[in-house]
Amino acid sequence: MQLSLNGQVALITGASSGIGYGCAGTLAAAGAAVAINYNRNAEPAVQLAQQITANGGQAIALAGDVSQESDVERLFQQTVDRFGGLDILVANSGLQRDAAIAEMTLEQWNTVIDVNLTGQFLCARAAVRQFRQQGERPSAGRARGKIIHMSSVHQLIPWAGHVNYAASKGGIDLLMRSLAQEIGEERIRVNAVAPGAIATAINVDATQGDAAKALLKLIPYGRIGEPQDIANAVLWLASDLSDYVHGTTLFVDGGMTLYPEFRGNG
Ligand code: NAD
Repeated sequence: MQLSLNGQVALITGASSGIGYGCAGTLAAAGAAVAINYNRNAEPAVQLAQQITANGGQAIALAGDVSQESDVERLFQQTVDRFGGLDILVANSGLQRDAAIAEMTLEQWNTVIDVNLTGQFLCARAAVRQFRQQGERPSAGRARGKIIHMSSVHQLIPWAGHVNYAASKGGIDLLMRSLAQEIGEERIRVNAVAPGAIATAINVDATQGDAAKALLKLIPYGRIGEPQDIANAVLWLASDLSDYVHGTTLFVDGGMTLYPEFRGNG
């Protein structure tokens, strides 16, 4: 049983809050040295890095906007300079700019596509280049490198009022599977996690009070998810326990994709 990530290096984007923050702490607890990327909110990332280091781990907080090619290149270079290589990418950064179609501005559309889809392309490309360049790393586990994309149930469930977000996550599905098909032979494993409703800053209005009660109707398992639910899945996908899992999206959604409105006999 190999769940340990001892000796491995992980870069997690968008890790100053929510799911990314949870993933960084969890991968560090499993033994990985972690590069904790933040965009604007440095403090939580810096504090998490200090906490991990104080507990005997290795961590660094790194600024960078994943939608900017030069930022992404620098982010990967700083990670490799600090830790000597890279074994795991968690491409997690994401945001929403919600609007009905007639009111959606081009800027709202572009911002979501730039961060959620282009950002994951730039990070995946940088990871593949690094995995190739560094060759075999004895500490890396069975795969030569692992890429985990953060998708959403909305890669599958259409979402009125959020066409930009749903399109970006639908794009992640084929980005991830095409990439997995392209580079699997090199023993680079590529997968995605599709969270359902997880209580974080991105959906604070939907996961509290009366809105939370309405949301629960969409979740057969009967609770709203926590960042740790996603971090546990990411840890498994990063570890050798999932070594034969490649090109798959793991839905971690309490059953949200089970058409819950048909529970009462349709
Ligand atoms: P969050 O808002 O707490 O985290 C998103 C992170 O992305 C933030 O830390 C933010 O700073 C970062 N980010 C935004 N723009 C960036 C940029 N240009 N460069 C670098 N980082 C940037 O929300 P979260 O729920 O933790 O979201 C994490 C991921 O999970 C996103 O991809 C989101 O789409 C996905 N997701 C979340 C849910 C949910 O219910 N919370 C459901 C499905 C998918």
